[in-house]
This record gives sequence, C-alpha cells and structure tokens, in this order.
Amino acid sequence: MFGPVYDAYHSLFHDMGYYYTMKLTACRRISQLSFIIVIFLIPLLDLFRYDTTTKEFFLLGHAWGLGLKEGFAADQTAIGALHIAAQFFMNAILPWLVFLAVFPVLGYVGGRFFCGWLCPEGALFELADFLTLKLLGRRSLFSKKPNEPVDDQHRKLPYALLAILTLVVIPLLGGVTLTGYLIAPKTIWHQIVTWDFTFGVKAGLIGVSIYMIITSVLVCHVLCKFVCAAGLMQMLFGWVSPVSLRLKFDVARKSSCTDCRGCDRACFMNITPRKNKRDISCVNCGACVDACNEELGNGNGLLRLGFGKDTDVQQAPARFRNLSGLQ
Ligand code: SF4
Ligand code: SF4
Repeated sequence: MFGPVYDAYHSLFHDMGYYYTMKLTACRRISQLSFIIVIFLIPLLDLFRYDTTTKEFFLLGHAWGLGLKEGFAADQTAIGALHIAAQFFMNAILPWLVFLAVFPVLGYVGGRFFCGWLCPEGALFELADFLTLKLLGRRSLFSKKPNEPVDDQHRKLPYALLAILTLVVIPLLGGVTLTGYLIAPKTIWHQIVTWDFTFGVKAGLIGVSIYMIITSVLVCHVLCKFVCAAGLMQMLFGWVSPVSLRLKFDVARKSSCTDCRGCDRACFMNITPRKNKRDISCVNCGACVDACNEELGNGNGLLRLGFGKDTDVQQAPARFRNLSGLQ
C-alpha cells in the first residue's frame, strides 16, 4: 500500500545531490531568507505570541484561551468535570505537545535540515563566517582551521563597511522581532519612532542585540554544535532514525576524487565530508555537494544528500543509476 508513496518520496529526494538544475546553496539562501521573513511576520500578524501587557496568548490572529466560559464550574457532576478536563487538554496540553514534538519529528525525517536550511541564527553565523573570512582570511576570530577556504581578496574596505552595517542593523532587527513575541510589535515601532522607551522594550532590544553580536562574533557554529537545544534534539532523533536525510559519499567512484579539498573547504561545520562517516554536526546544507559537482562536473559529484541508510549510489533506485551512467 505504501510502496508507491515511498517510491515517490525516494524519487523526489533520494538523489537530489545528482539531479538539480539550481545549486543547493542558492536554494538554501532562498529558504533561509524566506524563513527569516516568516519569523519577522509571525508576531506582526499575531500568528504566535504572548502579550505581556494584556497577558494574552495569540494564535493564528486570535486570543487563545482555555475555552472555559463564565460559570464553567456550575456543573459539578462527573460529566461537567470531564468536560473541563477535556477543554484543558485540548486547549492547553495538546498544543504544547504538538509544539514540543516539532523538532524531534523534523530531526527524525530531515536530520539537522532545519539548522542548515531554515534557522535564522545559522544564516547569521554563515554571514559572520563570510565577513570574517573576507576581513581576516579565516572563518574564526581566534584561529584558522586546516580545512578553511583560502581568500586572498585585498578589497577589505567594502567588507569592513558591510560588517559594521551588519553589526548595527541585524541585531536591531533581531531585537525588534524577538521582543515582538512578548510585546506588541506596533508598540515597539512606536517607541522606536518617538525614541521613548519603556523598560521592557529597552531590555528586549538591548538584550537580544548583545546576544546576537556576541554569538555571531565570538561563538558562531560552536553554539550550533554544542549548545542549541533545537539542534541537539534534531541531531539525536536524526541519528537514531533509519530514514533521516543525510550526506552520502559515492564509495564505488571514490577513485574519481581529485583531492581538490573543495568539499572540506565548503563545510562551515568543520567536517570532512568525503570520510564517508556520519557526523552528528552535519546540517545537510549541501555546500560540499555543490563543491564536488563544481569540481567533477554537474551531476558527477561524489557527494549527495539522500534519505535512509544506504551509503553509496549503487543502492540508489535503478533509474537514477542509469541516468547518471553509473551502472
Ligand atoms: S558535511 Fe557537507 S552537508 Fe554536512 S554540514 Fe558540511 S558542507 Fe554541509
Ligand atoms: S570536492 Fe569531490 S573531488 Fe574534491 S576532494 Fe571533495 S570529494 Fe574529492
């Protein structure tokens, strides 16, 4: 019964490392940007936020309550008690269970896909990596890792200006957005325009801005690897899942590897992708897949993203092997 569904699922994603017309990194930039816009719009449209002033929780544009009307305790029979318990479960416990299940489910299916393709903080860290590389010739402020890209660009001034702009604008926008999950965004914008701040707005803007500056300048992907709870949950569930998305190396064609180290250099999580060993830090970003396709020709790369346990292309569906001439 599930055969055709599984086949379609496999066909759609299994070999996306081999068959794509748009680079994965370009697709990823679009998905990261789209998700940042969504995160920005959620409090603005009251889709999901708690208002600390009115003490109301908003969900999908409406104030969310337990659904208990005035005089709800008047019926003191067993049926009445059951009705209250059911309302409490449906409106208070169930939504939280669904919310808490999001990252385990995402991890079970996509591994750390969310981290690589959607997480706004991950996108900010990649931007920080890029600017640090342009300015200092390495991704980190502190030391250069052996697998980092070489950058001999000498036009530092535009990147220095971009870095300053980034350090001012992005933490401020991040502060407005995240504070908006607790205080109505229009109140925040009004206070910014009139430059007249309440303590809550000031604390939110300053606190979030300092957090974003410190993490993007000093910590970056170390936070993703060792601290982020959402990342750790996806890592754990992705690791135990037999079907999760993961990076795969074409073992059968490993002699085609030119040792160009493009894949190593592309990896901002400091993984050596062609080791063909699962690494729990891999965020399935596909940067190494792009790098290898660039070196060996589009569609001929040795790396790909795919679901499930099989490790090399010989276990991929026959039609894919035929298409890529890998029989
Ligand atoms: S190993 Fe490849 S897919 Fe995984 S994080 Fe590194 S570059 Fe991205
Ligand atoms: S990018 Fe491909 S060819 Fe280059 S080192 Fe990595 S696996 Fe080998």
